Amino acid sequence: MAGVIRRLDETVVNRIAAGEVIQRPANAIKEMLENCLDAKSTNIQVTVKEGGLKLIQIQDNGTGIRKDDMDIVCERFTTSKLQTFEDLSGISTYGFRGEALASISHVAHVTITTKTADAKCAYRATYCDGKLKTQPKPCAGNQGTQIIVEDLFYNVSTRRKALKSPSEEYSRIVEVVSRYAIHNSGKSLSVKKQGETMADVRTLPNASILDNIRAVFGNAVSRELLEVGCEDQKLTFKLKGYISNANYSVKKCILILFINHRLVESNALKKAVETVYAAYLPKNTHPFLYLSLEIAPHNIDVNVHPTKHEVHFLHEDCIIESVQKHIESKLLGSNSSRTYFTQTLLPRPSVSSDAKPSTSSTAESSERTYAHQMVRTDCRAQKLDAFLLPKEKPASAGQASVEPVSRPQPPAQDTHEMDDADMLEALEEQETSDPSEVRPGTSSDTLDDYSRKRPRVVQKEKQEDLTAAATPRRRVIKLTSVRELRDEITERAHTGLQEMLQNLSFVGCVNPQWTLIQHHTKLYLLNTTKLSQELFYQILIYDFGNFGVLRLSTPAPLYELAMLALDSEESGWSEDDGPKEGLAQYIVDFLKKKTEMLEDYFSFEIDEEGNLTGLPLLLDKYTPTMEGLPMFVLRLATEVNWDDEKEFFRDFSRECSQFYSIRKQYILEPEPEEEEQDTELNSWRWKVEHIIFKAFRSLFSPPKHFSEDGCVLQIANLPDLYKVFERC
Ligand code: ADP
Ligand code: MG
Repeated sequence: MAGVIRRLDETVVNRIAAGEVIQRPANAIKEMLENCLDAKSTNIQVTVKEGGLKLIQIQDNGTGIRKDDMDIVCERFTTSKLQTFEDLSGISTYGFRGEALASISHVAHVTITTKTADAKCAYRATYCDGKLKTQPKPCAGNQGTQIIVEDLFYNVSTRRKALKSPSEEYSRIVEVVSRYAIHNSGKSLSVKKQGETMADVRTLPNASILDNIRAVFGNAVSRELLEVGCEDQKLTFKLKGYISNANYSVKKCILILFINHRLVESNALKKAVETVYAAYLPKNTHPFLYLSLEIAPHNIDVNVHPTKHEVHFLHEDCIIESVQKHIESKLLGSNSSRTYFTQTLLPRPSVSSDAKPSTSSTAESSERTYAHQMVRTDCRAQKLDAFLLPKEKPASAGQASVEPVSRPQPPAQDTHEMDDADMLEALEEQETSDPSEVRPGTSSDTLDDYSRKRPRVVQKEKQEDLTAAATPRRRVIKLTSVRELRDEITERAHTGLQEMLQNLSFVGCVNPQWTLIQHHTKLYLLNTTKLSQELFYQILIYDFGNFGVLRLSTPAPLYELAMLALDSEESGWSEDDGPKEGLAQYIVDFLKKKTEMLEDYFSFEIDEEGNLTGLPLLLDKYTPTMEGLPMFVLRLATEVNWDDEKEFFRDFSRECSQFYSIRKQYILEPEPEEEEQDTELNSWRWKVEHIIFKAFRSLFSPPKHFSEDGCVLQIANLPDLYKVFERC
């Protein structure tokens, strides 16, 4: 039996239609916000309860609604903004269909309190299903309008059920209000929960758009923004906005798009800008953009969907392409020196490799590599000089003696003993070196003696290791303090940085302190001093109690070393500290008492007479520059906490690693002579490339703070460079 076709009850039709226009609290608020702005309000306050489902209250200071109009404002198709169809093409206000308030009144209880400038008092009325429920009653009130919406969707249970939790609805509300707040600089907008005193978003009447972005999204974004702006006469559109530069990226693209001052979405535009950024940002990360487009009203079809969300406009493709080009040119032209100094890190793969370390390599290989991501270097490639070991003097049995690989010798004072080359070297050294560096004093004979003799070191395995034939026995360290220090290192590790250090291509040393490397398509500047210091620290903690010995060919008297250090400016010695001689003697006596422990744990050897005879062998073929030795000895006595076990191990390792690190004391050496162009003269460079950076690959867990303190700086990205070349 066929069903009887009946006309639907009008209120049911209206209710269904209303559900189309108003889908959730945030939609209702958006419509009402636009009404406030249409009414020239400069102060708009939104208050909600239970994510807007219980209550939405919007207070503005706009023109207000005339008392005579109050009985029809909530009827469908009543508007003060549009009269004929032709008006549609020239409309510049937001609403134009008179549908919003009507729709809301069909699905909620609405109360409007409003006062125009020339009315003597305010009026309040309540509405239901598009009609007045109670006649407007005079009441007190300031100029402007307050609209209260209660129990949204009380009569549409399906819609109500489809909604997310109040907190999720609230965050959508905050999102809408804050976006309108950003766009409407010069006006004050705020949103808060009922009963709270603090607003979750509040913008100030005298704030700029940039201020507003900062207020809503924070400093991290706002300081990385580029201003964009262009006009196209032919396509009759105007663009203004702010976009994030290549330093900034987020997990999800944020595109705040206003077209003719209405918050809209355009997937076509979003895709277009994302392709531009793909060349600049790490994989799977996205930009932030706030764009305000003004298009000739006759070119835009806002009427496409009741929610007027996704827009389409005439010449869409051309306009989008034009916007795309403009953004690209801005990104390309953005000051790269700014990038240089503000870049805090780094390859982002850390995020993904952290999450799923096992699959990262397979995922990598299955993904397509675009031309701009390809590199021609191979981190596994070896250079020939890797096989050229630093010159070693043939060791004669019994008293093997190796010339230090570095140039540890301080310049000799008695110049008559030097040949010309030495002389030049010494002068050069004096000129370029920092005055605060440790220099041997001139007064003491023994001191000169010490420097002239040029301490030599000998590498020797630890006794017990030698006896253990092929596989050296490793002492197992059970000290909790050491284990804790090891755990600290693992906890601080930054996997992204580690991956970079394992797969980098070495470009070259700028000076002892800075090294250039390439990783994927990016060029980085690494702080060799800081990185090598951390490397030696980690070796000291991990190989604790298992070091070989670097034996000094000439024992170095601790007393002289301490005096040397006290003489230097760096020590900060002053009269108040007492006579240097006394202090130096104290240091010797103090360290001598600790000999056994220092030798056992750190292969730091002191003989009966108070001479330093051995230092820990931390990396094969690596000897520290002896320039730092006096200061190291002094700091052992002054900067190390000897009372607490863990603190002591940490402090000692810190001081020791500083002494071993590649520092500016490895001053730039004079260009080697033709026949001397071997590895020895270039030794610090050779050490950095073939010892330190090799050790980074296997022995190092770089800590997170390197990603923030400027120890790793990205200075160029190849795709950007390609683009520069393309333009040439
Ligand atoms: P539209 O905005 O499309 O005109 P609405 O249903 O959103 O339709 O609003 C109906 C009418 O109510 C508006 O044309 C306007 O005259 C009046 N109105 C609504 N909100 C306000 C307000 N906050 N201040 C002043 N007038 C308002
Ligand atoms: Mg409206």
